[in-house]
Amino acid sequence: MTTRVTALAAHTTPEHEMFRDTCRRFFEKEVTPFHMKWEEEGIVPRELWRKAGEQGLLGMTMPEEYGGAGADFLYSAILIEEQGRALASGPAFSLHNDIVVPYLLHYGTKEQKKKWIPKACSGEPVPGSDLQSVKTTAVMDGNHWVINGSKTFISNGQLADLVIVVAKTDPKLGAKGTSLIAVETKTDGFKRGRNLEKIGMKAQDTSELFFQDVRVPADHLLGGPGMGFVQLMQQLPQERLVIAIQAVAAIEAALTHTLAYVKERKAFGKQIIDFQNTRFKLAELKTKAHIARVFVDDCIARHLRGELDVATAAMAKYWTTDLQCEVVDECLQFHGGYGYMWEFPIARLYADARVQKIYGGTNEIMKELIGRTL
Ligand SMILES: Cc1cc2nc3c(=O)[nH]c(=O)nc-3n(C[C@H](O)[C@H](O)[C@H](O)COP(=O)(O)OP(=O)(O)OC[C@H]3O[C@@H](n4cnc5c(N)ncnc54)[C@H](O)[C@@H]3O)c2cc1C
Repeated sequence: MTTRVTALAAHTTPEHEMFRDTCRRFFEKEVTPFHMKWEEEGIVPRELWRKAGEQGLLGMTMPEEYGGAGADFLYSAILIEEQGRALASGPAFSLHNDIVVPYLLHYGTKEQKKKWIPKACSGEPVPGSDLQSVKTTAVMDGNHWVINGSKTFISNGQLADLVIVVAKTDPKLGAKGTSLIAVETKTDGFKRGRNLEKIGMKAQDTSELFFQDVRVPADHLLGGPGMGFVQLMQQLPQERLVIAIQAVAAIEAALTHTLAYVKERKAFGKQIIDFQNTRFKLAELKTKAHIARVFVDDCIARHLRGELDVATAAMAKYWTTDLQCEVVDECLQFHGGYGYMWEFPIARLYADARVQKIYGGTNEIMKELIGRTL
């Protein structure tokens, strides 16, 4: 059981811990044995999404009437933590569960929710939202939107059945002319680019998507026209919290694997942990990891109460991901040359960490957001 050291302990029930067991078993059985192969392939099989859907790991925070379990966000946090513990860069479950599908729930009509959310809960992946696609346009033609444009760096883009596009529906109005439109990927004119090669997160696919005269029915618009920017701003604190939870899970995994290594490996007739430098450095990292855990658990508790604000989410995202990169770098150093070998967990943790400072809004942008509230 993960030891909750903060106010979040009060939110944790035996059901949450049962769900943690389910997640752990799922990763041990369905993911870890195949993950190396998926890293080579750059993608996880679609079948894995179906299995996750059967186990109740997709869309669990969605209401029961749409195929979810009506669970609270702590269930999402637990799934993210268990995926981090398993060192699995793919599948991008949290992107699907906590970042994209919520747009359908919060801004969709009853019909839209009935149409798409049950599929998302049963295992049809939905990719990353498309925040900066200011060049993509959607023009009304009869009772259809006609979408043109492209967007690079879309996680889950190769597998997705449904995409939520941010498009300019009224370019004259700037941010106020931006809308969210759901596009089924079987629609004519939709194309996926190649699966991009990345430094890390290798089992997670990332793609460029193209829209050429893609015609979707008018009722695929989510919420009102021109509401896209506001909708994105409302959902971004949860996206940033998700990244912070991933960061803390990775930090804890890095320390666990490193402690095991330094207790076993010997140099100059001593275990690596017997060098004072090792103990002092690891003592510092463990302290910082503890602070990160307390902070992020507090953010989760705030989010469960509906009180997580933009600046606090930005603090959590930038500070924990900076720390993640520091910790994995220091931990890799304790592995010596073996730390540079892919078969060692720390090598994967190192490669997967770097992007965390970039996506979800770069850490510089996080500081801008915090700075605006000073
Ligand atoms: C693996 C991966 C997966 C991704 N998945 C998705 C996804 O699913 N959906 C999605 O929408 N996006 C996704 N992204 C995109 C990601 O969110 C962007 O890459 C990120 O927001 C940065 O944007 P950019 O790459 O255009 O960098 P740029 O905006 O060009 O930034 C370049 C540099 O300039 C700095 N900079 C820019 N503006 C400022 C400023 N105002 N002040 C100070 N510094 C500034 C940045 O911090 C950065 O250091 C993904 C990216 C990657 C790498």
